Parts: sequence; C-alpha cells; structure tokens
Amino acid sequence: MNNTLSVYCLGACDSVPTQQSSKVPVGNLESLPAEPGEVLILALSPEQQDQTLRAFHRLHRFWSWRIYVVEPSDLSAVLSDGQWEEERCLGELEKHRAKLPLIHNPDEVDPLLGWLWLDSGRSLIPVKDGSDASLYVYPLLESIHPDLESPYRYLMSELNRELLGTEQLVDRIRVCGGCQGGHLNYLDVCPFCHELDIESSQSLHCFTCGYVGEQGEFLRSGRLECPKCLTPLRHIGVDYDRPIETHRCNSCNQKFAQADTRVSCFSCGQKNEIHDLIVRKIHQYKIGYQGGHSIRYGHRLTTPELMLKGKVDAAFFNSLLVWSNKLARRTKQQHLLMGLYLPGLADYGKLYGEARMFALTEQIAYRLNGLFRETDVCCQVRNELLLVLMPYAARESLPVLQSKIETLAAMIEEDDFRLQVFAWGLPDDTLADDAANWIQSRLTQVYAS
Ligand SMILES: [Zn+2]
Ligand SMILES: [Zn+2]
Ligand SMILES: [Zn+2]
Repeated sequence: MNNTLSVYCLGACDSVPTQQSSKVPVGNLESLPAEPGEVLILALSPEQQDQTLRAFHRLHRFWSWRIYVVEPSDLSAVLSDGQWEEERCLGELEKHRAKLPLIHNPDEVDPLLGWLWLDSGRSLIPVKDGSDASLYVYPLLESIHPDLESPYRYLMSELNRELLGTEQLVDRIRVCGGCQGGHLNYLDVCPFCHELDIESSQSLHCFTCGYVGEQGEFLRSGRLECPKCLTPLRHIGVDYDRPIETHRCNSCNQKFAQADTRVSCFSCGQKNEIHDLIVRKIHQYKIGYQGGHSIRYGHRLTTPELMLKGKVDAAFFNSLLVWSNKLARRTKQQHLLMGLYLPGLADYGKLYGEARMFALTEQIAYRLNGLFRETDVCCQVRNELLLVLMPYAARESLPVLQSKIETLAAMIEEDDFRLQVFAWGLPDDTLADDAANWIQSRLTQVYAS
C-alpha cells in the first residue's frame, strides 16, 4: 500500500487535475473494482457523460462510491457529486468512508437509500421533462429502478414508510384524473351545452326602450344610438348600461357571463372537470428517518399492501361475513367467499428487491381491480392472502371467475409469480358469530395445499 490515494478516471484523464491523489485510468465501468467507497471521475463529452452517469447508477454496485465530473453536463447535478476539485472532494471522501463501517449489512441495502444516506448533501431531485406524460422525472430513481411502472406511487410508498423524507417543494401540478398524465388542455366551454365554440360579445342595454343588442348594432357614424328607438346613448349608467353576459355560444346561441372550464387530457382523451384533476406535489427527497435506521440497524422486509378498491380492515370484514351468512340463510341467497393466495410474494422481494416487488403488487392490484364488482368487499388478511366477499354470486359462477383469474395470473409478466384461488359458498352452517376462527380453519386448507 502506498500513501497516495487512488482515484479512478474515465475519459480524458489528462484533464483531471490531481496533486495529492494518483489517477487510475479505466476504459469502462465494467473494469472498475468491486471495492466499496471508491471515487470515479468522469471527463467525457456531455452526452457520453450523462449516459455513463445513468449506467453507473443502473449497475447498483457503485452505490457506496462517489462520482465527480470535470465539466458539468445536463444530468451531472442530479446524478453525480458535482465538479471535481481535489482538495474539497478528498475531504468529502474521508467523511464518506467514515460512514461505511456503520452499515449493518451492505448486501441488503437498497442502492437508492444507500446512496442518499452516505452523504446528507445528496438528494433525489426532480427534473422537468416535457416528453414524459407525468411532466417531472427523477433521473436517479429511474436509473436505479428502471422497472417501476409508476415512479410517483413508488415514491409515495417510500415516503409513507419514512424510508424517504421530503425536502423542498419544487412544484405543484395538476394531472388527469383518468391516466395521471400532465399534458392537459384547459378549455372554456358554454355552460349550457358544453360546446367550445364560444366568443366574447359586448352587448348594450338601452334604458329608454329596454332593447338589448350587440354593441355593433348601436354604432351610428361613430356614435352610440339605439337601433330601436333611435335615442342617442351618451352616458353609461344614465342612458344605457352593459349586461353582465359577455359571452355567446355559437352552438346554442345562449348568452352568459362566465364560461365553464373543461380540461381535456392529451394522453388519454378524458374530459375532466377542474375538480376531477389530481393535485400532485413535486418534491425533492432525501433519506428518511426509517431509511437511515434500516441502513444502520438492518431492515425487515415487508410486502407492500395491495391497493384494492372495496378493501376493508379485518374486524369489519369479519362482522360483514357473519352478517352476510345470516342474511344468506334467511333469504336463501348465495354469496361467495374467495381466497386469493400468493405464495412466494415475500421471497420474490428478497430475490429481486423491494422496488420490483412493489411493481409486482401494483400489477396484481391493477388486474384484480378490473375483475371485482363495485359491491365486492375484500380484505388482505395476510401479506400473501386476500379474501374477497362477493355478495349474490353463486358457486356456479366460480368456474367463470376462476378462469378469469387464471388468465389474469398469466398476464402478469413474472415467471416466479403464482396465484392460487380457493372458494367457499355462503351460507355455511359452521359459521356462527366467530368469523375469525372460522376463517382460520378455512386457511389451514389453503396453507396445506
Ligand atoms: Zn388522461
Ligand atoms: Zn352552448
Ligand atoms: Zn332604445
């Protein structure tokens, strides 16, 4: 070991000023060593540099490194530690390395959380992107977790669990209630027929005869004169006034004072009312309290909850089950209780990381939501087990449902994903007032399978 510190350089290494450290030129990211807490300096053309910065984060194995650039590029402010100045950067490296031994288990650290935690000056920064339907993108998040279907929902879930925390509010945008796209067109429309062919029109009201008409009709050789009673209109408020209706619709000819606003979405075509739009806050994020805690003391993997419509808590579900059973017995109707078992969901998380597990549960929820009726009620009794109460569904409808669910399971694009379906008909004579116990005994059947 020599005493000078080594820093890795990619690109025009001669342009990297060093005095106290020695440069190690490398040809590409793949030839960098596996050691944690090293430094890479990029001296590349702006375009190449941004590509390399993205690849650096995508590779996951460099989350414990520092990366600097010689010249700034578009993404260097959000994906690197800034410009290389040897003295300052070596000082930062020293602090950085002092934190490495505090990490509980480097193999379990989420690369995004690890990156943010190692330097309190680092943030997850949003960047405006007009080509993206959501208007803002997080290049760091998207480089590290490119599989996320909705980075926004992922961030909300990380924020709820305090793995991330908010820094400053960057913007507040409105997105489409249908597809959450941000490319919106605000239209003034007629409040009567909702057509958009409206124009502003200025009318006058003659006090002498009460006639109301377009301003143009009152113009006579540069003066205002009522076209009906021919009275000259000299003073507003004395001879005439202007009605408050200042718009006219070319479709239905109604006059009105204020147009309605409709918002049409360029992405999905939905016509939104203003109150249908979703207000979304765009924040800059930093490591959250639980995020830091999990890095220092280890992290218990939890499967994210399925976001399903008609979802209720276990206590409510149990009482509903007892009630429906009694009702079914009295009215001789049939209900169906369905169990959806997703074995291996937690193992999936361990295997592929939380970001991919989150993407999978989102996919499952999305497909299931398309299957359930408005009146179905569901409850996630365990992380990997979902119960659905389908009122007025007979056992005979089960084969149809089952095949729908099998199609759905096949559509989910994951090889390691399995979904098993169980069903029980109501009324059931063994179900009395203790639904929790009754469910428990059904579940032994699920887990034994
Ligand atoms: Zn839309
Ligand atoms: Zn109209
Ligand atoms: Zn008149």
